[in-house]
Amino acid sequence: MPLEASQKVALGLRLAAACYLDPECCSVVGQGVPSSIRSARAKLLAGASVAAHEVTSDASISTFLGDIADDLESLDAQGVIAEAVIQVRLLSRTLHAGNGDGQIHGGLSEEACQTGLLRLSKAIEERLGAALKNATGFEMGTKPGLSYTTCVTDEAARCAPFFVTGDADISCTPREIALTLFDGEISARALLHIAYTIHHEITCHGLQGLASDAGKPNAHATCFWSEGWMDTLAFDLTQDWAKEKNAWTPLNGPDGEGELWKIHDARYSAAVNIPKVQMDYRRAARAGFRRLARILQDNCLASSQIDACELVKAFTFTAQTHADATCTRLRLLAARLLTVLVGDNPGRRKETELAHSCISFVATRDMALLEAQIDKITGI
Ligand SMILES: [Zn+2]
Repeated sequence: MPLEASQKVALGLRLAAACYLDPECCSVVGQGVPSSIRSARAKLLAGASVAAHEVTSDASISTFLGDIADDLESLDAQGVIAEAVIQVRLLSRTLHAGNGDGQIHGGLSEEACQTGLLRLSKAIEERLGAALKNATGFEMGTKPGLSYTTCVTDEAARCAPFFVTGDADISCTPREIALTLFDGEISARALLHIAYTIHHEITCHGLQGLASDAGKPNAHATCFWSEGWMDTLAFDLTQDWAKEKNAWTPLNGPDGEGELWKIHDARYSAAVNIPKVQMDYRRAARAGFRRLARILQDNCLASSQIDACELVKAFTFTAQTHADATCTRLRLLAARLLTVLVGDNPGRRKETELAHSCISFVATRDMALLEAQIDKITGI
């Protein structure tokens, strides 16, 4: 369901409070949280609570948020909450234009992109597009394109064990990414949950077979290429994002890294409701992704650990976006790769031959050749 006026306002205020005023990120060592920050956060959250009654249409948004921004400014003698004021003023000018849904590139206006999770999705999509182009030369165009929806729910179980849940449908054009948030206060830690979820939905699903304009079958929830191999890349890309210290990652350093690892690991724990054998494959895919980088480095096919990770990224992006890629073909590719990468003592010769095949695939983009080469290596 598209966001209503009051929902847009409540979500915008809660996100601003999480980005700029989370006490966990604003504490001064030995002094605690400045009172102006505590008061500003309380005002934003109070505004989010009363929005349901006081914001009845798009026409009332500007005045409602303008008053809150004025209130914040009166608190801010030292300018410590200036960024929150700027954000609330921006929302007061733009929230009338969108409803949290739509295609960012080739679709919505700049104003409409401020609504719901579109602003964060836009930042992540642009960054992932640049990473993809840098690694493979492939450019994300406006076709088939990605379209987003932002929903809120008061059913915590729908988002458990975290704050948000994502879903993707790549069988249609544009491809659809649905993000559902729990309708409550948002913390800086929750921002990391949201950022990881968006990275996952775009990287693991939205990009699959993207070089073809045609719709593609959706991966099953147990697909170990999508949910293991690709998710490991999505996790790495989220970690890189968090290290950049942008407005969406106020919780950075060891605290932010620890929170991201917690979310990532939870996807590989026994608590996930999939059969154990499928979880074993998911965990093997994560291990295989890491093992390929190790083999590249140990056999001097990469000049450093960073170089090895970049090569694995280029290989993974090339396979994922390939015009002929489908979830079934990629899952079978993952199965082939894992035979060597996490197989029972495959031997150094097989490992290096596999690594060579993966590197040359980035240049040839010949998926049938890659499959044949791996089958020859494994003797199938
Ligand atoms: Zn997924």
